[in-house]
Amino acid sequence: MRETGLSRTTVSSLVAELLEEEIVVERSDSARAAPSPSGGRPATLLSLEPSSGGFVGIDFGREVVRVAVANRAGELLLDGRSDRLEVAHRAEEALDVADAMVWRLLEQAELGPDRVISGGVAVSAPVRSDSPGYVSEVIFPSWADVNVAAFFGERLGVPVHVGNDANLGALAEAAFGAGRARRNLFYVMLSEGIGGGVIVDGRIYLGQTGAAGELGHIVVDPDGQICRCGNRGCLATVAGGAALTAALRQIHGPHMTVDELIALSHDGDPGAARLIADAGEAIGRVLAATCSVLDPELVIIGGELAPAGRPLLDSVRGSLERWISPASGHYAVALGELGAKAEVLGAIALAMSHAADEALAPGYGLTGVNAPGATPGSGGPTIAGART
Ligand SMILES: [Zn+2]
Repeated sequence: MRETGLSRTTVSSLVAELLEEEIVVERSDSARAAPSPSGGRPATLLSLEPSSGGFVGIDFGREVVRVAVANRAGELLLDGRSDRLEVAHRAEEALDVADAMVWRLLEQAELGPDRVISGGVAVSAPVRSDSPGYVSEVIFPSWADVNVAAFFGERLGVPVHVGNDANLGALAEAAFGAGRARRNLFYVMLSEGIGGGVIVDGRIYLGQTGAAGELGHIVVDPDGQICRCGNRGCLATVAGGAALTAALRQIHGPHMTVDELIALSHDGDPGAARLIADAGEAIGRVLAATCSVLDPELVIIGGELAPAGRPLLDSVRGSLERWISPASGHYAVALGELGAKAEVLGAIALAMSHAADEALAPGYGLTGVNAPGATPGSGGPTIAGART
C-alpha cells in the first residue's frame, strides 16, 4: 500500500472488489503475518486466484491449427492441435475448426467464456500493417476479406490481437524459453515454410511493414523453384519443411510429413539425414548474412523441424561458422525450448501483454521481454508446462 501511494480506504475497497470477483483470495497464512509497523492488526496476505480468468491463444500454421488456454497467471491449462487442413486456402474451414477447438478447450478447462480476459492469434503470414487484423493475401490467398481479430473478438466478446507466427514464436522463446535473460535475439521458425522474428533490446522489432526477420524469402538460388511468394529460389523452397518432404515423396510415398521426415532421420535413413544436413547448410549461410546485420546474442532454431535436433543444429552451426566474416566473431545457436507450441504460447503472451497495456489484468506485463533489466520469473507471467 505504501508503494502505491493510495489511501487505506481506496486500497480496501479495491481489494474488496477483487475478493468479491474472486480474482484474489485471502491466503491461509494471513493469521501468522506480522503486525503492521504502526502496531495495527496484521496485514492480510492475498494471492491471485488463477482460475478467476484466462487467456486464449490460437496459431494458424500452414497446415495445422493449434489452440491453447492459459489461466490468469499465464500457466498453460490445455492445448490441442487439429488434423491437417489447408489453412492458407480454406480460411472458412480453418476459422471454424479453430473456433470449435477454442470452445471445447474452454469447457474442458472449466474456464467460463465470461472469464476470458483477451485472446491472441498467430498466423503463418505477414500481418498487414495498413489493416490491423488482416493478413497478407499473397501468402494466405483465401484470407483477403477475413478480419481475424474481429472474427474471434466477436466470438469471444473480448479484445483479440493478431501477430505473425514467427514474431510470436520469438516473443515466447524470449519470455519463457531459450532466450530468457537475453536482450537481442534472432528466432528462426522452421516449419512447412521458414519465418523469423527479431528481438532487439528486449522488444519485438517489426520493421516498417511488420515483415522484419522474414528470412524464408531471401533468394538463395536464382534458378530455383517458384516460391509461394512469387519469387524464385527463396530459402523456403530449398530448406522449408514442405520442400524437404516433397523431396522424399518419390522414395517414401506421397503422404510424407515433417514429423515422418524427422523420424526417418532419427532412424538413420540416409536420404532424410542428407536433406536435414543440406537444409542446415543453406540456413546457416543465410544466417551468416543475417547475423552480420543484426549482431544478435543468440540465434534460436524453432518450429516443426527443430526436433530434428543435433544433426540440424550442428549443420546450421558449421555453415554459419564457415560463412560468417572472420571479422564478425562467433554467434551462438541453440534449439528452442518451447517446441511446436512456441507460436501458440506467443499468441497467449501477446494477449497477456495487451491485457496489461489495456489494464484489463493489472500487474501483468511480459517480464523479460518488455522490462529492461528484468529477471525472468521475478513477478511476470510464466507459462508452466510449456516445454515439450
Ligand atoms: Zn518466397
